[in-house]
Amino acid sequence: MSLVIVGSVAFDTVETPSARRERIVGGSCTHCALAASYFTRPKIVGVVGEDFPAETLAFLRRRRIDLKGLNVVPGGKTFFWQGRYGPDPNERETVQLDVNVFADFNPEIPPSYRNAETVFLANIDPDLQEAILRQVRRPRLTAMDTINHWIQNKREALLRVLREVDILFANDEEIRLLTGERNLIAAGRRVLDMGPRYVALKKGEHGAMVFGRDFFFGIVSHPCGEVVDPTGAGDSFAGGFLGYLDARKTLSAMAIKRAAAYGSVMASFTIEDFGIDRFRTLRKSEVEARFAAFRRMAAF
Ligand code: AMP
Repeated sequence: MSLVIVGSVAFDTVETPSARRERIVGGSCTHCALAASYFTRPKIVGVVGEDFPAETLAFLRRRRIDLKGLNVVPGGKTFFWQGRYGPDPNERETVQLDVNVFADFNPEIPPSYRNAETVFLANIDPDLQEAILRQVRRPRLTAMDTINHWIQNKREALLRVLREVDILFANDEEIRLLTGERNLIAAGRRVLDMGPRYVALKKGEHGAMVFGRDFFFGIVSHPCGEVVDPTGAGDSFAGGFLGYLDARKTLSAMAIKRAAAYGSVMASFTIEDFGIDRFRTLRKSEVEARFAAFRRMAAF
């Protein structure tokens, strides 16, 4: 059981219609690792500057996240992203993006990571995702996420990575952009022709669908009347999903369905507070209670 995650570790400035938070800790890798830490012991690969808070590193360690693959660049500045949400939490605009220390990042994973069973290539430059895939031996399961920016600007590199992974995590907008198909089922099938065995399609408050060549599963989202900060929901979904699968011996259809349910549960917690703050108090018993409630909600 070991899950390696590569992705951004960041400062985020987040604006919602009712609040604004400056330079809080975020990043695709951070959200994903925290969500996964309720199921397995994630190992992260990434880079931060000297400005990254020691307190956050200590918190990640307390959640038993392995930071050997996290480079701290002396004098460097941490990746920065600023996003603005409209009244619809599914709609967001990137206001500013400074890659900073990621500009010269050449990931080299520690020897203790090379036998990872599960590898998640969270949203980051596809060239970096590919570099990680080259360094792990024979993972049982590989998955990736991406965003419109890479689909538009680094399509070739992205398609190369896609050919090699088992699962693509994407939202409806991304999968449409990637395939040129409006219909989500047709788009998903098109992705299956590009490499992956499964597509996990995230649909915000409407839930998620997972489909493969002869497999389909749909799950609703936890009913949440007030979304405080949607940032990191997608990464937490992937973290719950892959963390759960990493801790299981099987990749059966039932295991994948439960993984999707745990993914939804973890995403539903993330959006209850800004940045990674909900994870500071979240207990495993709350995760299990919400999973049980999900089950009751979906049964008929
Ligand atoms: P999510 O809301 O799950 O899609 O992911 C949000 C996180 O992605 C934020 O915490 C950002 O720091 C991070 N992020 C935003 N843009 C990028 C990018 N171009 N590359 C890597 N990470 C990014």
